[in-house]
Amino acid sequence: MDTHYDVIVVGGSFAGLSAAMQLARARRRVLVLDGAKPRNRFAPHSHGFLGQDGKAPAAIVGEARTQLAAYPTARIVAGEATAAQRADDRFVVTHGDGHTASADRLILATGLRDELPPLPGLAECWGVSVLHCPYCHGYEVADKQLGVLATHALSIHQAMLVPDWGPTTWFTQGIVVPTSDEAALLARRNVRVEPAPVVEVLGDAPNLTGLRLADDRVIRIDALFVGPRTHMASPLAEQLGCAFDEGPMGPVIRVDDLKQTSVPGVFAAGDASTMWSNATFASAAGVAAGVSAHRSLIFGL
Ligand SMILES: Cc1cc2nc3c(=O)[nH]c(=O)nc-3n(C[C@H](O)[C@H](O)[C@H](O)COP(=O)(O)OP(=O)(O)OC[C@H]3O[C@@H](n4cnc5c(N)ncnc54)[C@H](O)[C@@H]3O)c2cc1C
Repeated sequence: MDTHYDVIVVGGSFAGLSAAMQLARARRRVLVLDGAKPRNRFAPHSHGFLGQDGKAPAAIVGEARTQLAAYPTARIVAGEATAAQRADDRFVVTHGDGHTASADRLILATGLRDELPPLPGLAECWGVSVLHCPYCHGYEVADKQLGVLATHALSIHQAMLVPDWGPTTWFTQGIVVPTSDEAALLARRNVRVEPAPVVEVLGDAPNLTGLRLADDRVIRIDALFVGPRTHMASPLAEQLGCAFDEGPMGPVIRVDDLKQTSVPGVFAAGDASTMWSNATFASAAGVAAGVSAHRSLIFGL
């Protein structure tokens, strides 16, 4: 016999805890299942999250988890949800070593998994000197020698942004050839364009010192911005039959303005359902999903 909840939230990080907080404060029974592998676990510090700037990501989420756990109707269980399905009028989630729990609504806040370019030395620097976003980590590497590694066509936008943080070299990797207008804008932004492919990341990991090119030149670089290809961190949305949208970096779960997926009763929030990856956006989407799930329990779907 499984335990029944009003809502099960899968994923207990920025989005999932924010969703569960709204439900706990509405005095609803909410279960959070969390595998404890947030996307930013490779970064020693998180930036730009209001009131928490510069803290370790685990400290921010840990404090939020403690605050949520103080509510009597909230339960947080460590471990992966391995399966989710609709059974009549409820959702049944399997977790841990075969336990099941059921709920009237489900919120997926399962995040994304990054697929880094397969360059020797790059993964070891991820989160410290190989960075995904200048807004999150650019300030800390300001005025150093900065690089942008192309992984997809939109990399050119990152190459145009990054000079606000320091002198920038854009490594095109043969993926992007700028138009003459783009080349003019890159020149106005003082971006050095390097077409020779990068073949190795050099340094004393997690700190990089330079990049080796295919023609054996070494370019000094102190921090490298990379937009990795992304994948769903969990197969649950696919199992449930949720529709996806193809984003520039990878698929995201399709949601409406109320964060409901294409499957009635299943809501999604955070990186798994947006192209705007950022802890604040994830938390805000989680609040929206929690409130929407709560209201749907009263007003129907
Ligand atoms: C290296 C790096 C550094 C970053 N730095 C910053 C920063 O400084 N500032 C900022 O605003 N943003 C930063 N970000 C972006 C930020 O990490 C994400 O936007 C944010 O973590 C998204 O929150 P989320 O709750 O959607 O997903 P996540 O934080 O990724 O959490 C998803 C959670 O769901 C769990 N989960 C997944 N599947 C299951 C399952 N089947 N069962 C149970 N649990 C499951 C995972 O274990 C994880 O705990 C960074 C990203 C990266 C990659």
